Amino acid sequence: MNVEQYRVAPGAKIDLTEWDANDKNLFDGGKQQGQDALPALNKRLETLQELLYAEGKHKVLIVLQGMDTAGKDGVIRHVFNGVNPQGVKVASFKVPTPQELAQDYLWRIHKQTPGRGEIVIFNRSHYEDVLVVRVHNLVPPEVWERRYEHINAFEKLLTDEGTTILKFFLHISKEEQRQRLQERLDTPEKNWKFSMGDLAERKLWDQYMAAYEAVLSKTSTGHAPWCIVPANRKWYRNLIISHVIIQTLEGLNMRYPEGEPGLDKIVVE
Ligand code: ADP
Repeated sequence: MNVEQYRVAPGAKIDLTEWDANDKNLFDGGKQQGQDALPALNKRLETLQELLYAEGKHKVLIVLQGMDTAGKDGVIRHVFNGVNPQGVKVASFKVPTPQELAQDYLWRIHKQTPGRGEIVIFNRSHYEDVLVVRVHNLVPPEVWERRYEHINAFEKLLTDEGTTILKFFLHISKEEQRQRLQERLDTPEKNWKFSMGDLAERKLWDQYMAAYEAVLSKTSTGHAPWCIVPANRKWYRNLIISHVIIQTLEGLNMRYPEGEPGLDKIVVE
């Protein structure tokens, strides 16, 4: 699968109206076949994660961003299905605590970055500090405007020190979000996922899209690229993200470490 088309070239000026959230051009089949294709990818990812852990050399950071209901939790559940929970950590970033706010905005982020042999998934991330913070004027423009530069430098530091970074923007349409929010209201088992705040954020859709366009245009770099994932179809979203992660891990040319010399002569009695 040639997923390159979803990668944001460094310096590209992104207009999200030109990116189709419904797209599924890399897969010929429909939903059922798409869902059926996932378990084999889960298996491959499981093997690659074990290799990553065994080799203990690389660190992998996966950043998930998207509007409410875009599917960040679904990606974690489905793409990492079957992967050894000991090898993957999820870090979720909510409204900062008073202590976190007293520090610089990357302080709580840096503490959660992966060590050698680890995969860490960021469910929201430091990008909230140029998204929700910008849209809600939580700090003045001159403060958030310089953050893109900090973020690029921070991610450069991480990659220089051995971290592979993949960033995914889960791109849903406004109409798809309407349907998903309505479903949360109409299904008792999903009511808990709904909050009134979601409606207030939805009213700011256009401002969020502008903030995301700035993020995607300014912070997709050679060392830490963004992918814009068409996410209206959950199964397609899962396939694309699985492929990108698998291809990236395969590109690391990992090897199992050599055992101690002479192991072939040992017989366990
Ligand atoms: P979920 O990630 O599942 O939507 P919540 O419903 O608790 O979880 O939402 C987390 C909230 O925290 C979001 O509204 C998000 O915008 C907010 N948030 C995350 N990081 C920051 C930040 N740095 N500053 C302000 N708000 C933030």
